Amino acid sequence: MIQLNNVTKVYNGIPVLENFTAKIDKGEFVFICGPTGSGKSTLLKLIFCEEIPDSGQIIFQDEDISDINRSRIPYIRRSIGFVFQDSRLLLHKTVYDNISIVLRVTGFSWKDTENRVKETLRLVGMEDRIYAVSKELSGGEQQKVAISRAIVKDPLVLLADEPTGNLDSKSALEIFQILEKVNKTGTTIVIATHDYDIVNKMKKKVISLENAQRA
Ligand code: ADP
Ligand code: MG
Repeated sequence: MIQLNNVTKVYNGIPVLENFTAKIDKGEFVFICGPTGSGKSTLLKLIFCEEIPDSGQIIFQDEDISDINRSRIPYIRRSIGFVFQDSRLLLHKTVYDNISIVLRVTGFSWKDTENRVKETLRLVGMEDRIYAVSKELSGGEQQKVAISRAIVKDPLVLLADEPTGNLDSKSALEIFQILEKVNKTGTTIVIATHDYDIVNKMKKKVISLENAQRA
């Protein structure tokens, strides 16, 4: 589903990824692991078409996106959900508003929108907070809402960049368990993290960036 072939990405003359090759299959749950600065975020941005590689090839769903036409990017992103370390919610808006906006802009009816939002919140265990104002939620709860927002359109892939970076270990574990549940619905999950404890506990496929560091 996602393939990186000999991908090199250089910033200011310094390679962050060098001849990096990896493959992620449909339905997989994969950790991108490595210390700070090893290129985890860069790798996710390349898949999300937020960056383009200096050389090599990135294939998403049989399409070469390494040198993609800008007008094609929204189509690719329709299939991808993204969760950031800081949930990036509109804090003064309700949980419902934060999630439903994603559907309303693509023309879902009010009724379908409401049903989908409720269904998604049920999956992350937040259905009773649907009309809560986001700033009143804990960090872990905000991250659950961010995950809901990222999956409400039922993307093929969910990319998460250090989604538990700001959370205590109990909340972090909960988030990973939710991501496992999302994975069971068929969504491919790619998580960048430097939390080796959790990675060791979860026993999932690991793509390691230690060796991909600058020469
Ligand atoms: P990680 O997410 O593993 O911490 P990043 O992918 O964010 O690593 O960054 C890898 C390296 O690339 C770092 O040294 C960072 O400073 C550099 N870098 C990332 N983005 C840019 C950018 N837009 N411009 C210049 N350097 C960048
Ligand atoms: Mg990062």
